[in-house]
Amino acid sequence: MSRKEALNKLRDVLLVRREALRKALDGDLSLLQTLSQEGGDVMDAAMDTAQDEISSQLVEVESRELSQIEDALNRLKEGLYGDCEHCNKPIPLARLQAVPYATMCIDCARKQEKSSPRLYTGLDSTQASNASL
Ligand SMILES: [Zn+2]
Repeated sequence: MSRKEALNKLRDVLLVRREALRKALDGDLSLLQTLSQEGGDVMDAAMDTAQDEISSQLVEVESRELSQIEDALNRLKEGLYGDCEHCNKPIPLARLQAVPYATMCIDCARKQEKSSPRLYTGLDSTQASNASL
């Protein structure tokens, strides 16, 4: 299979994935609305908050991935897809097959990660808020 054929296949992967994410986001949002309309007489308030937080984190992850996929589809349209946006070298197919919306080769992605480590260690919210004070 040529690289072009492989990239076309990845386009289908991206389109299917985008559809799935859109549906998941729809589902999650309506679930959140239902939860807040029903009120918390079954669940206690603390539980309610925790669930909301988990759902909104999921929505955040899903919408981030969705925008990365939109990005990749735009790059496909412009013929830029599959090339690293930093060094312009072709991104290896194995990487694209693992992460179809990757915009950087592994070398540039690693460099980026090193130059802005706070983005990748932001999971500890206590530390993050302390750092911003
Ligand atoms: Zn690169």
